[in-house]
Order: sequence, then structure tokens, then C-alpha cells
Amino acid sequence: MFKDDLDRVAHSRGQGTPDLLRLRSGSVRRLPDGIARPADEAETADLLRRAAENGVRVVPWGGGTSVTGGVNTPPGDAPVVVASLERLSGLSQLDESAGLATFGAGTPGPVVEKALDPHGLTLGHFPQSFEQSTLGGWIVTHSTGQESLRYGRIADRVAGLRLVAPGDRLVVPPLPASSSGPDLRWWVAGSEGRFGILTEATVRVTPKRYETRVEAAMLPSWWCGVDVARGLMRNADTAGLSMLRLSDEPETEVAMTVGLGDGPFAAVVNAWLQLRRVRHGCLLLLGAEDSLDGDRAFDGARAHVGEAGGVWLGRRPGRHWLRDRFRHPYLRDGLLDLGFVTDTLETAAPWSQLPALYDSVRAALRECVTVGEEEIPVLCHLSHPYEDGASLYFTFFFGCPNDGDGEAAVYRWADFKRRASQAIATAGGATSHHHGIGRWHSPWSDAEWSGGENAGGGRAMLEAVAQRLDPKGVMNPHVLLDPVDRLED
Ligand SMILES: Cc1cc2nc3c(=O)[nH]c(=O)nc-3n(C[C@H](O)[C@H](O)[C@H](O)COP(=O)(O)OP(=O)(O)OC[C@H]3O[C@@H](n4cnc5c(N)ncnc54)[C@H](O)[C@@H]3O)c2cc1C
Repeated sequence: MFKDDLDRVAHSRGQGTPDLLRLRSGSVRRLPDGIARPADEAETADLLRRAAENGVRVVPWGGGTSVTGGVNTPPGDAPVVVASLERLSGLSQLDESAGLATFGAGTPGPVVEKALDPHGLTLGHFPQSFEQSTLGGWIVTHSTGQESLRYGRIADRVAGLRLVAPGDRLVVPPLPASSSGPDLRWWVAGSEGRFGILTEATVRVTPKRYETRVEAAMLPSWWCGVDVARGLMRNADTAGLSMLRLSDEPETEVAMTVGLGDGPFAAVVNAWLQLRRVRHGCLLLLGAEDSLDGDRAFDGARAHVGEAGGVWLGRRPGRHWLRDRFRHPYLRDGLLDLGFVTDTLETAAPWSQLPALYDSVRAALRECVTVGEEEIPVLCHLSHPYEDGASLYFTFFFGCPNDGDGEAAVYRWADFKRRASQAIATAGGATSHHHGIGRWHSPWSDAEWSGGENAGGGRAMLEAVAQRLDPKGVMNPHVLLDPVDRLED
């Protein structure tokens, strides 16, 4: 157990907007009392047993990239230990004929891919936090990578797992399929450390034959683009696509300005788009493998875009996007230096409900203007499309005086978050598509867990599982199940 002060600060908060604000302004309310680094399953079990005996709370820590308060040290009198899983790392078994790889749950994204690469294999899971987040963190938050069209969400790739809880242990062997009752893997996916610590997972890996290529198109308008995206999901000729991301007009404007700059090339592109009447349109990015199959998928997509009055822009914008794809989110740190707070929200809904969801979240964010006539820029993109619907991902900005007063900015952020979360719940969207519930979303999740009725059945079932696995409430207090509004903690 380590009690180094810097280590405690580094393990006190995740990477959500209020976490950055509090860490930068020195207003973190509580630090963990110690950091444990179990080396294997036996040490993990021992840690949880001793925590239960001594009234200690344990916060599992993968890469610490949670943006929902999932790794934040909870308030209260009980001592808190962070269980950093960095030593549960690496490939322990590879069954090449079955395409099954077993990793320690604390394995970071780049280490997963590096271990598979010599075997010509990939997991194909690339969230924007890929460089810092871990396999276990992905599984317990229902993470979704950028190429979800080809590789699915992370839970789709999990064949087997091992979970250690204070009151029990759950071992699910890797089977291709089973009809033995409800699938226990799905009780662990999304459990966010509230049910126990995932120590190991066996995941489905696939041959990595080609690099990914991204091509771009410009559609005349957002809703036209949404129709194109829906069409692409239902056509056999575009089945080879691995990624789709459609920006609305405000996000496209920002992407074009940042991506093209203001040199002669930008002037030529803008003039050409003006001529084709899509200058203020919506940017569509599509990914597929750089192969003949990929060519076929791009050809199919190009036909749909052409029929919708769009313009194909080719590879160049996609190359830039691929190069910087894990760096874009960290622009928020630079913006904070300039006195602008940025945050993102994400949800999902059936195609038929997306228009109402889009309008209500934007309206809710804009209602929060409390200072003079400040305009709140709200950007959105559609990504992770499915046959029946898609995810919407919003980014918003607001000004905050760069005077070191993190507290005021956190309260303002909480106002945005509360109103947007309520708008999502009212419009019938998913509380979260891939960031999870953490300590910040639970007050709004009954709308989803109980179908909007006040029966509370979904929450009660999850609470019963937590009670069975963790009768003394050791694991990650307040995460997932606690319906109290903790946005300002
Ligand atoms: C810049 C940025 C970009 C992001 N982009 C994406 C994206 O594209 N897609 C996406 O899905 N998410 C994204 N996220 C969110 C975040 O990266 C994911 O939620 C990720 O899955 C968290 O993994 P982690 O290893 O960092 O987990 P942590 O942040 O350490 O933990 C997350 C939660 O899981 C618990 N936990 C972690 N490991 C274990 C374990 N082994 N057993 C039990 N509980 C555990 C923690 O207690 C916590 O509740 C992004 C975050 C940032 C900061």
C-alpha cells in the first residue's frame, strides 16, 4: 500500500470536466487514503476481504479516464483505498485457432494491440482514450471504439471473464455461445466496479489484414446526412464500413476551420464546396479497411452520397482525422487555459426519435445562458450507427474567467449537465451510450431502467446483485446505483 501524497492526488479524480477544474484550481475535496496495486487475483481477493473486515471502501482504477466521476474518491468518513490495476496487465494466453486472447484487466489499449500485432491479430477497440484506458475499464463501462461498425462494442468481444468481489467470485468460461440462462457476462459489462474487480478477460480477436482508411464527403444538411447514414446501415453494398461519423453544421464549421486552416488550399476547397452548394453542409467521415472490400464499401457509400446531393471529398480530410484521432479531445486543456470550459455528452435513440432528442438537448444547453448574452456553442455528431438507431455526441463550450475559481465553473457545468441529462431522459434517449453512469448520471437512469415508469424494477434488480456480491458495501460507493445528484461533489 502506498501513501505518497502525489500518488494520492493523481488517483483522486478521473478526467471529467469538473475533475480538471478541481485539480487545476486545487479544490479537490478528498484524496484517497492509500493506493493498493494487487499483482494477481489472489492479492485482489485478499485486498477486498481485508477492506470488508475493516470498513474500508475500494475504488477500482484502470486508466483513470472516466468522464462520469467513476474513479473519484467518494465523500464520507470511511477510509478509501484506490485499487490500481496496473499490475494485472499483459497477455497471458492466446488460442489462435479460436481467436481468443486472455489479458489482465489492467492492460492499457496500446499494450493490448502490441501483444496481438506479432500474431497478425487485433481487438479492434479504439476509443478516443485508447492510449490511456484499459481493457477492464472498457468492459465495465460498455466502452465503444471508433470502429464499432466492424468490431462492435467491447462487450460484444468478451468471451469469458473473472470477477473478484468481497462476498464471492464470478468466473465465466469463454464459450462461443450458451443457452444456460441469462448471460452472466452482461451483468459484469457496465458494472463500473460496483459489483467487484474484473481481474481478467478473454476477448475475441480477429486477423488484422489491412490498415484502416478514412474518406470524407460533404452532405447538404444535417437531416439529409442522417438519412444517408440510416441508408448506409441497411445496404449490403456498404456492409464493409468500419466507422461512420456525421457532424452537424456547427461542428462541420469548426472541423473545416481547424482542419483546413486559412491557406490557399482552404480557399480552393471552400470555393469548390460553395460551387457545389454544400459549403455550409455537414461533414461525413467513413472508415473501412484499405483493401478491395473497403473499396467496394466506399463505392457503395459514394453512390448514396451522390444520390443525396452530397460531394465526395476523398482521402485527404480522413488522413488528418486518422492521424490526430486520439489527440482531439485534449484540445480542451488548451481551451481551459484560454478561459473556456468544454464538455461532451452522449446518448443514443432509435432513428425515429433522433430529431426530437437532438432539438431538446441543444435547447436545454442553450437555456443555461445566465451571463449577459453569452452564446453557448453546441456542436453535435452522429456516430456508432446501428440498424435501428445511432448515438448522438454533443460538445458545448462556455466561458469561465481564468481566475483559478474552479468552484464557480463546476457549479455552472453542473447546471448544463443537469438540464441536458433531464432533456435526454424526457426525450427517451439512453442515459449514456458509452461513457457509463458513474457518479453523475444515476439520478436520470430510472427513465431507462424502468421504462420511464416509477416501478424502479431495473434499479432494484441491480441493487440485489450488488448486495449479493458485496454485502458490506465496500465497492465503489455511489457509482451506478446511488440516485443522489452528486454533480457538485
Ligand atoms: C479524452 C477521452 C476520450 C474518451 N473517448 C471515449 C470513447 O471514444 N469511447 C468510450 O467508450 N469512452 C471514451 N472515454 C471514456 C473512458 O475512456 C471510458 O469510460 C473507458 O472505458 C474507461 O477506461 P479506464 O481504464 O480509464 O477506466 P477507469 O476510468 O479507470 O474506470 C472507469 C470505471 O470502471 C471501474 N473499473 C476500471 N477498471 C476496472 C476493473 N478492472 N474492474 C472493476 N471496475 C473497474 C472504475 O472504478 C470506474 O468506475 C473517453 C475519455 C476521455 C478522457
